[in-house]
Amino acid sequence: MTLDASAFDGRLVLPTDADWEQARVGRVFNGRRPGRQPDAVLVAGSIEDVQRGVRLAKENGWTVAVRSGGHAWAVWSVREGGLLIDLGALTDVGYDEETDVVSAGPATKGGEVLSPYLEARGRFFNGGHCPTVGIGGFLLQGGQGWNQRGWGWAAESVVAVDVVTADGELVHADANENSDLYWAARGAGPAFPGIVVRFHLATRPMFGALAHTVHGYELEDFSEVMTWMYRAHRRIPDNVEIVCVSVPVPVPEGGERRLFLVTGLAFGDDEEHARASLAEFTTSPVIDRAVFVQDAVPSTLAQQREEQLRNNPEHWQYICDNAWIDGEDSAEGIAAVVEGIRPVFTTNPTEHGFAIWMSNAPRRELQDMAFSLHTDAYVAAYTVYEDPADYPRNRDWVNEVFAHAQPVTAGQYLGDSDMTNRQLRFMAPENWARLQEIIAARDPEGRFHRYLAADPERINVNHWEREEAR
Ligand SMILES: Cc1cc2nc3c(=O)[nH]c(=O)nc-3n(C[C@H](O)[C@H](O)[C@H](O)COP(=O)(O)OP(=O)(O)OC[C@H]3O[C@@H](n4cnc5c(N)ncnc54)[C@H](O)[C@@H]3O)c2cc1C
Repeated sequence: MTLDASAFDGRLVLPTDADWEQARVGRVFNGRRPGRQPDAVLVAGSIEDVQRGVRLAKENGWTVAVRSGGHAWAVWSVREGGLLIDLGALTDVGYDEETDVVSAGPATKGGEVLSPYLEARGRFFNGGHCPTVGIGGFLLQGGQGWNQRGWGWAAESVVAVDVVTADGELVHADANENSDLYWAARGAGPAFPGIVVRFHLATRPMFGALAHTVHGYELEDFSEVMTWMYRAHRRIPDNVEIVCVSVPVPVPEGGERRLFLVTGLAFGDDEEHARASLAEFTTSPVIDRAVFVQDAVPSTLAQQREEQLRNNPEHWQYICDNAWIDGEDSAEGIAAVVEGIRPVFTTNPTEHGFAIWMSNAPRRELQDMAFSLHTDAYVAAYTVYEDPADYPRNRDWVNEVFAHAQPVTAGQYLGDSDMTNRQLRFMAPENWARLQEIIAARDPEGRFHRYLAADPERINVNHWEREEAR
């Protein structure tokens, strides 16, 4: 074993070191920390450190786990045994004016750093909603960024990646060179067979204006409102991000109350265009019963980021799950879908918990890449609490509401998943098969950890299909 700490630009931290706990979980967003103990943590100071770390792991027979922003809800970066390489220092950002491509280190915070950096240059990248999410894990699993409905998955704007391979080599991967790694980097998530040390991202011109519509409805109106939304969302122009949220909000009579919000965020060429794009929202048949209506109010990305931070307090305890919802092709189908997801939105047991429904319609055709499963609507729910003793109750609730939604569930998105609790499909079968070939070729010795799952032999299968086949 060569554990020479001076061999690194950063720091190799061992379990006996005073700052072990900080190195192990200090940068993890979710306050619900796992007990899993790696053998060592390399706080990488440079790309060369990442290469050295992989070689050190090879010498020691260690499996490598990776952390960029530390926001994986199920804390995928902390695994039992092996070496955790923390990429927190890899945050360099550079912009090429000729190609409009921005290159950024994997721990760059999408909203807090990358977005303002590009805004200052009149450019935009459709990164994640919460400002503190690292681009590393976000892009590798697909990336549901601003107006993903209209602009596509953030991973579709990745034009190249620089990767440290299982041998510790640094390679560039794009559509022409190491194209297998480029394909896998857009959707493999935590089973990517390498470490991305830099992303190269296509940017778009900064939009001209933002306008925000928000209707606040009582939870008892959920079914009526949602039924209307299922009929309306395809008609809304694709420059509008459509999200419905169950969340506690300040109400006109004072204090806070959980309401069901219907929101449209229009990215317009100018204020008039943004406002006009939100017209469909005024057709809500229950608008007269709304607790409040905010109609096409001008907004800014900074305001949107602030709201995200308020709704996602760091280091609280989170349990979440999600589902790609399917079956809205007929009136009966819509009724089944609305009933299937109703408890997710109306029964959250935690004061700060929330649930989101996000439109993905009309569904766009995806690029040829690992990410390959989505439907017309996405649902995720989060319990947010401080006392670990509330875990069993909140876990039961999450399991119950998603079991209720099972008849209208097609699969899951890796970004809000926890396969130690529930395993669902997240990739098309042919893409899954291709990914397995790439992993086998690129990482034959299993240098990198794969998906963290209760049943690692049965990944990418909906658990009820597995149970039925038994
Ligand atoms: C508050 C909050 C808001 C969120 N909002 C959104 C959202 O709007 N849209 C969305 O799509 N998702 C969202 N997510 C989910 C988030 O995108 C994922 O949890 C993502 O994995 C986080 O990336 P990270 O780099 O911060 O996480 P990490 O925990 O650092 O990384 C997760 C895993 O990805 C792999 N990985 C990360 N970086 C690399 C790398 N450079 N090379 C190889 N493998 C790597 C590793 O297996 C790692 O363990 C949100 C999460 C939180 C906590």
